[in-house]
Amino acid sequence: MKYTVGAVIEEPGSSIVNKTSSWRVLKPVVNNCKRCGLCATFCPEGVIQIKDKATIDYDYCKGCGICAAECPIKGIVMVPENK
Ligand code: SF4
Ligand code: SF4
Repeated sequence: MKYTVGAVIEEPGSSIVNKTSSWRVLKPVVNNCKRCGLCATFCPEGVIQIKDKATIDYDYCKGCGICAAECPIKGIVMVPENK
């Protein structure tokens, strides 16, 4: 069997079409927020927006927990995905 080296990207925008949160085990929940913006700064996926409080796009959040670790007031808690 012959394998092709590399990958073929057939069209742009696949990360928009394909939700990337399906393998998330823990989900960040914002319980308290003073709108400092640190979680949004550190989120590697760029899925947090600061509105009236930190707001997470769960379609693309991968549950890494960095936001919860960085929040200075411990306002984000990680909970099991199915709760
Ligand atoms: S780090 Fe904490 S306090 Fe700061 S914006 Fe995020 S949730 Fe709010
Ligand atoms: S858990 Fe990770 S990917 Fe999800 S919002 Fe927090 S920092 Fe971003």
